[in-house]
Amino acid sequence: MRKKILAANWKMNLLRDEAIELQQQISLFAQNQNVQIYAPSLYLSELSNEGNVAVGAQNFYFEKFGAYTGEISLNQLKSCGVNHVLIGHSERRQLFFETEELLKKKVDAAISNGFNIIFCCGEPLEVREKNEHFEFVLNQLKASLLHVSDDCWNQVAIAYEPIWAIGTGRTASTEQADEMHLYIRKSIEKEIGLEVSKSLPILYGGSCNETNANELFSCDNVDGGLIGGASLKCESFKEIFNALYELY
Ligand code: PEP
Repeated sequence: MRKKILAANWKMNLLRDEAIELQQQISLFAQNQNVQIYAPSLYLSELSNEGNVAVGAQNFYFEKFGAYTGEISLNQLKSCGVNHVLIGHSERRQLFFETEELLKKKVDAAISNGFNIIFCCGEPLEVREKNEHFEFVLNQLKASLLHVSDDCWNQVAIAYEPIWAIGTGRTASTEQADEMHLYIRKSIEKEIGLEVSKSLPILYGGSCNETNANELFSCDNVDGGLIGGASLKCESFKEIFNALYELY
């Protein structure tokens, strides 16, 4: 049985009090399940000491300390009780120019510091229209993730997030999600090995909400979700949670 994960990516949303209230509401139903909240860094220290859901950082810098104005290190995150990070989100790649080389360094730093990571991958629309999405995603994985040593894969989850589906209201069909997740799993089997491929959680992200979650999570190879917009409303997120954990 593979681990299921439901992750909320709050991005640059919610004021402090709103974040605390939403975390409290989520804690009420998320008990004992693998729910992670990727909150704005400013609130991590406070949120990590509350509730029973893991909180994670949307971003960090790979260096240990030093003259990197505005950045946050993994040691600083650890000192605030945080041990989950997102890496490779398309918004960081596109808007903040995070290169595959930088992502590889972030992966190495996070893994060697004992963090759990969600590594995001996914193609833009023009790549899918050219039918090059499988190759594109595999190249993203090869460039920044697949070098992770065999004994560290238990710290890794992958989120497949087609860029054309993030925040657009346009979600991948179950067929599109399942075939990409299967392709990722088969690629991991080929590149890393059967054991890792069987146990690796692969999450779907991209306009997943309370109306499509059931269908997406019914796919054999979809082990959870990385949820943006719909994670900002407790009721929607709760329904997505119920769909993943089959609580009806
Ligand atoms: C995301 O930011 O990772 C995401 C999937 O956003 P949304 O659910 O809003 O598409």
